[in-house]
Amino acid sequence: MQISRDETRPDGLRVLEGLVLATEVSLLLDGDGRMLRGRCSCSYHFLGGLRRGPCRHLQALRDSANTAAPKPFERPAPGTPPSVSRECH
Ligand SMILES: [Zn+2]
Repeated sequence: MQISRDETRPDGLRVLEGLVLATEVSLLLDGDGRMLRGRCSCSYHFLGGLRRGPCRHLQALRDSANTAAPKPFERPAPGTPPSVSRECH
């Protein structure tokens, strides 16, 4: 697993690219970690795309991205007062 690109675009979508099991994959995720678009060079994806569900390469890339950054972005709505910092006691 090798993530070569992981960035959140100005529109809030997350772009991921990487190498999973020697297969090139790229993903576009929304704020909830759902796959909007995916690209993989394996035959499963070539035949069915995302319609049959993401192939294991895409799943692996998404899972690792979600665990690597628990909160991809947390943006308060405009006008919302800054949230009180949560402290554990
Ligand atoms: Zn694949």
